[in-house]
Amino acid sequence: DALSALDAELIECRACPRLVAWREEVGRVKRAAFRDETYWARPVPGFGPHDARLAVVGLAPAAHGANRTGRMFTGDRSGDVLYASMYRVGLANQPTATSLDDGLALLGTRVTSPVHCAPPDNKPTPAERDTCRHWLASELDLLAPTLRAVVVLGGFGWQALMPVLTAAGWIVPRPRPRFGHGVEVVLQPDEREPDAGPRAPLHVFGCYHVSQQNTFTGRLTPDMLDDVLRRAALVSDL
Ligand code: SF4
Repeated sequence: DALSALDAELIECRACPRLVAWREEVGRVKRAAFRDETYWARPVPGFGPHDARLAVVGLAPAAHGANRTGRMFTGDRSGDVLYASMYRVGLANQPTATSLDDGLALLGTRVTSPVHCAPPDNKPTPAERDTCRHWLASELDLLAPTLRAVVVLGGFGWQALMPVLTAAGWIVPRPRPRFGHGVEVVLQPDEREPDAGPRAPLHVFGCYHVSQQNTFTGRLTPDMLDDVLRRAALVSDL
């Protein structure tokens, strides 16, 4: 289908020279614990059903997580936290994500990001973020007939996502809604957008990122994460 075709095209993308060099170098040098593995070292596509009602959006793949395994939030501590929570609230069939063939399936939810290649220090440049924007805009456009809510992990992801949502056919108010944990805004479909098909209002939830920096310090607890995912699942009829 169209989303598979988009993903197939995405994994060939080499538009950002710095990120192409970094993702491949990380895959050559590797982390000692993974030295016998072949890293994915390419753009990481979104993961989950093509008729998802909910999207969970991070920022970019982790160097030794998704950039190694080829699947969003798979094979690192952030993913351990995220998928355990998704399992608890009924959005995943198992609590762990380790590799492409680990049997994980998501229920009505697609996990994706506004930047698809691992950046040095987990920080894409504004130019890289803008260059990658069209991929997520196209993905959300294809999900639009069923999509009801988005959970955004972290303030950087929130800032990167707002222009993507505009490009994908929703109206983002000005001034732009501010990120905060537990924040919920509802965006209306942009009727003036001639190419946009029928779509529903979109509930956008802010959630602190599942990084170790937040989870080890207790800034983001499992209960806080479950709570946001549960609210998002509810408005998505999941
Ligand atoms: Fe392509 Fe996005 Fe990767 Fe840049 S970050 S090379 S635009 S997939």
